[in-house]
Amino acid sequence: MSKRDYYDILGVAKNASPEELKKAYRKLAIKFHPDKNPDDKEAEEKFKEAAEAYDVLNNEEKRRKYDQFGHAGVGGNSGFGGGGFSMDDIFSQFGDVFGDDSVFGSFFGGGRGRGGSRRTVGSNIRIKLKLTLAEMRSGVEKKVKYRRMVQAEGVTYGTCKHCGGSGVVKQITNTFLGQMATQSACPVCQGLGKVIESKPKDANEHGLIAQEFETSLKIPGGVAEGMQLSINGKGNDGPGGGSAGDLIVLVEEIPHEELVREGNNVHFNLWLSFPEAALGASIEVPTLDGKAKIKIEPGTPAGKVLRLKGKGFPEVNGYGTGDQLVIINVFVPSKLSSEEKDILLNLQDSKNFKPDEKGRSFLDRMKDLF
Ligand SMILES: [Zn+2]
Repeated sequence: MSKRDYYDILGVAKNASPEELKKAYRKLAIKFHPDKNPDDKEAEEKFKEAAEAYDVLNNEEKRRKYDQFGHAGVGGNSGFGGGGFSMDDIFSQFGDVFGDDSVFGSFFGGGRGRGGSRRTVGSNIRIKLKLTLAEMRSGVEKKVKYRRMVQAEGVTYGTCKHCGGSGVVKQITNTFLGQMATQSACPVCQGLGKVIESKPKDANEHGLIAQEFETSLKIPGGVAEGMQLSINGKGNDGPGGGSAGDLIVLVEEIPHEELVREGNNVHFNLWLSFPEAALGASIEVPTLDGKAKIKIEPGTPAGKVLRLKGKGFPEVNGYGTGDQLVIINVFVPSKLSSEEKDILLNLQDSKNFKPDEKGRSFLDRMKDLF
C-alpha cells in the first residue's frame, strides 16, 4: 500500500510553519477523534494517518529527512520497514503535543490512554555505517550488527502501589490564579502503572537485557556523508513492554583513491603529458562503475573540463543524476635530459608555441566557470 503524502494528509503547503501544522492537525484530530466516531474504522485510520503525518512534520529532523527521502527516510512502510502508529502511541503523545492548549486539553480530558495502558518508548540507538562512493551511488543493502536492549524473558510485573496502576499522580498547587490540578507521570513506575516484581539476574532495573542484533538496511542511491537514516522500532525496547525506539544510522564516506565527491558530481583530476595534450589521445579514466574511455582532442588545454554525463550520484529523492567532471591538467617535467632541452629550445621561438588570444580567452572562460 503506498502512503499518502504527509503534507496532503494535513492539507498544508510544503513550507507550512509549525503553527500551521499544529492548527491543521488539531482540526483533523478533533474531526476524526474515536470518541466522536465510535466504531468508525475509516475515521480511526484518518485519525492515525494525521497523527503520523504530524509526528514527522512537526519534528525538524524527521521533516528534513521526509523532504529528502520521502517515506523511506522516516521509516514508513517502504524500504526501512517499521510498524506505523498504534492508538496507544497517539494518545501518549497528546499530553506533550497539546499540553499547552486548554481547548484541546479539555476535549481529551476524558483520559483515554492516560491510564494503565500508557506505554513508554525505548531509547534510540545510533550507529555509523561506512559506505564507498560506489555504494552511495548505486544504493546498497547492508547487514549491520549492534547491541540492543530487549525485554528479558521471565520478567513479572505487579501494580504500582504509588499510583494505584494509573501511571499518573495528581497534584494540587496554589497559584495566583487559584488552585490548579496538574497530572504528571508517576515517579515510581515512570507512568507505566506497574513495577517489576521479579526479573532474571542479568536484566537491568527496567527488565531489559543487552542482545546482539542483526538487521538488513536498504540504503537508497544518492545518500551522502553526514546523512542520517532513521529506522522505526529497531532501537532499544521500552521498559515494561513499551515500543522500541529508533535505530539512527549515520552515513560515513570511505574516501575513494582517485575520485572526489562534490555534491552529486564526481571530480577526477586527469594528468596529461604535454604530447598527449598537444597531439590528442584516448585515455581510460576511473569512474564509480568501472573504467571509461575518453577522447582527448588535439590541442586540449590545462583547465579544460570534460563531462561524463550521468556518472555522478542520483538525487536521493529520485530526480536527476550528477556527472563526472574530468579536469585536465598538463604535466610539466621538472627534470630534462640535455637532448630534451635542445628540442624544447628549438620549439621556444616557434609561433605555434606562443600563448595566443584563443588560449587566453579560454582561460577567462574557465574563470567564469569556477
Ligand atoms: Zn506508579
